[in-house]
Formats: sequence, C-alpha cells, structure tokens
Amino acid sequence: MKVPMLDLNAQYEPIKEDVLQAMRDVFDSKRFINGPQIAELEEKIAEYCQCKYAIGVSSGTDAILISLMAMNIGQEDEVITTPFTFFATAGCIYRVGAKPVFVDIDPKTYNINPVLLEEKITERTKAVIPVHIFGQTAEMDKINTIAKKHNLYVIEDAAQAIGSEYKGKRAGSIGDVGCFSFFPSKNLGCCGDGGMVTTNNEELAEKIKILRAHGSKPKYYHKIIGGNFRIDTIQAAVILVKFPLLEKWHKGRQDNAEYYGDRLMDVVGIPYVENYNRMIYNQYTIRTENRDKLQKYLNDSNIGNAIYYPVPLHLQECFAYLGYKEGDFSEAEKAAKEVISIPIYPELTDEQKDYVIEKVINGIRI
Ligand SMILES: *Cc1c(COP(=O)(O)O)cnc(C)c1O
Repeated sequence: MKVPMLDLNAQYEPIKEDVLQAMRDVFDSKRFINGPQIAELEEKIAEYCQCKYAIGVSSGTDAILISLMAMNIGQEDEVITTPFTFFATAGCIYRVGAKPVFVDIDPKTYNINPVLLEEKITERTKAVIPVHIFGQTAEMDKINTIAKKHNLYVIEDAAQAIGSEYKGKRAGSIGDVGCFSFFPSKNLGCCGDGGMVTTNNEELAEKIKILRAHGSKPKYYHKIIGGNFRIDTIQAAVILVKFPLLEKWHKGRQDNAEYYGDRLMDVVGIPYVENYNRMIYNQYTIRTENRDKLQKYLNDSNIGNAIYYPVPLHLQECFAYLGYKEGDFSEAEKAAKEVISIPIYPELTDEQKDYVIEKVINGIRI
C-alpha cells in the first residue's frame, strides 16, 4: 500500500467541475485583479473567523509582513516569536528591519511558552507573534495579558489554524491581527499562493488595505510605502468553492486524529490538545526518540511523512548574526530531533490509517 502525506487528487476529484467553472468565470470576466470574488471571500472569512475585517493578500508570508508594516515596526524594534515554526514567521521580522527574539516552546503543545515570554521583553519590543502550530492555538490569554501590560501588538500566525479555537474564540480574532495562508497544503488551500489578514481593529484594517496596493490612496497618491500584496481573483474564486467544505474537512482530520490516538497513545507521543482548544490538525505530529529510524521505516513502507521542523530557527545559518547557540532553547531543539508528522488528510481510508498505524508500531520497535 501507498499512503501519501497529502492527497490533493482525492480532494480535487469531487469538486473538479465547480473549481473549473469558478476559474472559467474569472476568465470570462477578465477581472483578474480585484475581482468581486475577493470581497466575497473576505466577507466569508471575516465572519468565519469572528472578525470585523478580513483583507486578502498574496500569501501567508505576506500577511505577516504587511501586518508588521501596518504596525510601523522596523529598525531598532524587536519582535518576539517561537523558534519552532515555519521560516516565514521570523523571516518577516527581519525583512521589516526588526530583530527576531526567540522564546522556547511548551514541549506538550509545541507552542510558545508564555511563562518564558516576559523576561525577553525590552523597551524595544513592539510585538509578539505566537504561532498556532499544527492547528492548535497558543496560550492566548497569558500572551495577551503580558502584551497588554507592555503595550505590545499581538500578531497571530494562524497559517496552520483556520477555524481552530481558543476558549471558544476563533484563531485570528484573539490578537490584534490574524495571519492566514491558503498554501495548497493548509486546511483551506488555493491553487497557488494566497493569504488573509483578519482583525477587529478598523485602523489596522484600513492601513493594510492601502499597503497591499503600494500604499496608494487615492490611486497614484502615496502617503505611505506599501507593496503589491494582492490576492489574485482566481485564487479567491477557487477558495470560495472549497470554503463550504472546510468544516467537513476539519471533522475528517479530527476523526482521523482520534482513530490514530486510540491506537498509538501507548506507542509514541501523540498530539496533546488542551481541553479548551479546538484543534484542526493541519498536521498530526507524533514524537519518539527513535524518530530517524521510524522515518526510514515509514519511507521504506511508502508512507508519506514530514519533519516540521528539523532545525529550530535560532540555529538557522541566516540567523547566526543573532548570536544564539545550541542549548539556548532546549525544548525546541529536542522537538526538532523527535517529531515526525504522518498523513492526516480527511480523505484517508480506514485501510490506509490501519496501515500507517501498523507501520508506526513496527517502525519504533526495530
Ligand atoms: C504556511 C505557513 C506560513 C506561510 O504561508 P505561505 O502562504 O506559504 O506564505 C507562515 N507561517 C506558518 C506557521 C506556516 O505554516
């Protein structure tokens, strides 16, 4: 048997005609830029994320970048985040000229550990970017309390967490802004790159809208400097077709997680979910000291898998100038050596799941 890490064919097949029709509609209208599908999607995502505003942008990465720009964060400023995340989170901090400052993770959830946050705050700190890693929200109450005390912005990197909840609040509505990605492997993916910023802050929403079109308002008059951060109409059109299925897909992932969990809990470390969180399982990440052996065994058994993330950001070559060294964030470093993500996409069959379970059990015994 073969189980891919993600099967976009299985997702595409039942919606193929609708997706192609939606794309045809965009071609027929020729409104490739700023087509009406974008506003329609923004309205739907805002409502879904329990926010007043949603602004479509060119990617999840650009959602983070434009948020930092809208907050006037730049040189001399520091922004705190986790070292256990996709590169973009910290890359964007550097790109606006600010300094990334890392805080270690909670080993249970892999999210930033709020207990360690306050000691990293200086008079230069302007924002904190908690990442809702793998689809589970970070400890937002604690983070928001500290941020408020020190007058910091909170940018939720919710790229992996559309629809996840913290104590009944949707990801993207809990901090000052939420950043989402429609990269094809996220729970809601488009057919290329796309992203969204959500917020309840009218001023930030307005500024982000202006920044995404070169800072121009009215057209060709520039009070501020932005960039080309627009989402394509065609991406919005495709997402609109997929959006009504999102809850069903979340449920499929959650059911798969339960199926795995029941059978793997005594074998490997399974995802730990706080009882007040709604986890949407963008990834199902297990943990074992025999990770490298297990990975080889899964590869040999034709089971797709991935290591998110093999090198924590403080040890990346490009961040050597920050002066971090091995041992600085022991939980993130340990996680990087022990985690492995296995297929969790909603279309997995019971046979496929049983095969994965059998191979994981065998793989850690050898
Ligand atoms: C995917 C992802 C991003 C970047 O999104 P893109 O749309 O690929 O630019 C940022 N942060 C995290 C945590 C992600 O998983």
